[in-house]
Amino acid sequence: MNKYLNKVIEEVEAKNSHEPEFLQAVKEVLCSVEQILEKHPEYEKAAILERITEPERIISFRVPWVNDKGEVIVNRGYRVQFSSLIGPYKGGLRFHPSVNQSIMKFLGFEQIFKNALTGLPIGGAKGGADFDPKGKSDNEIMLFCQSFMTELYRHIGQDVDVPAGDIGVGGREIGYLFGQYRRIRNSYEGGVLTGKDICYGGSLARKEATGYGLLFYVREMLKANGQTLQGKTVTISGSGNVAIYACEKAVSFGAKVVAMSDSNGCIYDKNGIDLDLIKQIKEVERARIKEYLRVHKDAQYMERTDEDSPIWEIKTDIALPCATQNELTLNSAKKLVQNGVIAIGEGANMPTTQEAVDYLLEKGVLVAPAKAANAGGVATSAIEMTQNSIRYYYTFEEVEAKLEKIMINIFNDCKVNAEKYGCPKNYVAGANLAAFQKLANAMMAQGIV
Ligand code: NDP
Repeated sequence: MNKYLNKVIEEVEAKNSHEPEFLQAVKEVLCSVEQILEKHPEYEKAAILERITEPERIISFRVPWVNDKGEVIVNRGYRVQFSSLIGPYKGGLRFHPSVNQSIMKFLGFEQIFKNALTGLPIGGAKGGADFDPKGKSDNEIMLFCQSFMTELYRHIGQDVDVPAGDIGVGGREIGYLFGQYRRIRNSYEGGVLTGKDICYGGSLARKEATGYGLLFYVREMLKANGQTLQGKTVTISGSGNVAIYACEKAVSFGAKVVAMSDSNGCIYDKNGIDLDLIKQIKEVERARIKEYLRVHKDAQYMERTDEDSPIWEIKTDIALPCATQNELTLNSAKKLVQNGVIAIGEGANMPTTQEAVDYLLEKGVLVAPAKAANAGGVATSAIEMTQNSIRYYYTFEEVEAKLEKIMINIFNDCKVNAEKYGCPKNYVAGANLAAFQKLANAMMAQGIV
């Protein structure tokens, strides 16, 4: 391995030994850009790797709130402002009990590369809290969001840092967060948050963007390899924002989605998933996916019992992990390959473990990597910021056309770079190489900061 690369990886491991997800994300990127480092010895002198792996700023704060029983609860909030190299910090907020600094840093690190791939002027960040929205009343959600924003507001702004949604943060939460920000600041700054409802400054097609974008990317990847989505069987993990709209687009491209999941288990419906029912259960009732059987009695429900989700045991042509990190393990990858899978499209961030990615690539399975394939969400957030700046709304069709063009460009960037560096069809490496080169160029141009 390149000596400089080796030295930096050792240093990052030593400094962050208690942050496994962050180390996983860093190693995944750095190990695939060795050839660029060989070509650019000047990057070592400029400490490009040391700087790109160290966040510009990490903010951690107390979030106290009162639940419906009158008890005081204290959660921990975060905002990792990783890089403002090519634009204001930009990245979602995650509310989930698993949130910790390692997960925030891995997501913030990934976001820098993803945002660079969009070709739009946005830096990288991530934030959230170890708050569990499950089972909370609307009032509790509002009080939590208000308390969270009462600290966060001083660190963000439409030219500084623009948060959005992620796991546990959807349109409802963004509304409460925006309301509190506007109240504290006594000014309407539409571009400070994205994922807003259309009735107060949101963008049409933002809700759909990550899932739709994933399918545009997968379509391009299949096309480049002589395949289409028409008639293919698809399984999608998760049943949240990304999964639902990935399902919608996959069906519109002629595929048949037969399974979806949540953290408790998965449903298999050989007749094709009833997406209207999933939307009703998840977006309206906020209930468990098992409820699907209430209407479709001939569908099957498989409970999750260990780290390997039962959804990956189902025979499929295309698997779309759209729930969370490291949800597709080596065991699951082996089952998918045994069952003849041809492509994986990562809708979630880092959903496939490193050993599973290596195995899938070795077996000739096409892998659409998260930082490229799910970039449609943040790209459309940037389009929302544009509309807020020019005080104008684009139509759904206008936004979707821009999204489609961006996803086609991202795929081509991954493909061209994979070919240029001698690993054709390895779009995982292609994405890292393309994004890293853009960021390194910008770092060299801006001096030691
Ligand atoms: P949602 O909260 O809307 O949905 C998350 C889904 O994943 C739910 O079905 C949830 O099930 C499931 N899930 C969450 N945690 C776990 C877990 N530990 N194990 C198994 N299942 C789990 O989130 P999103 O759809 O917005 O996000 C999903 C993924 O996509 C995340 O990795 C996110 O970072 C990524 N992403 C999201 C973007 C966006 O625009 N929203 C943009 C780019 C990436 P349950 O209800 O049981 O918790």
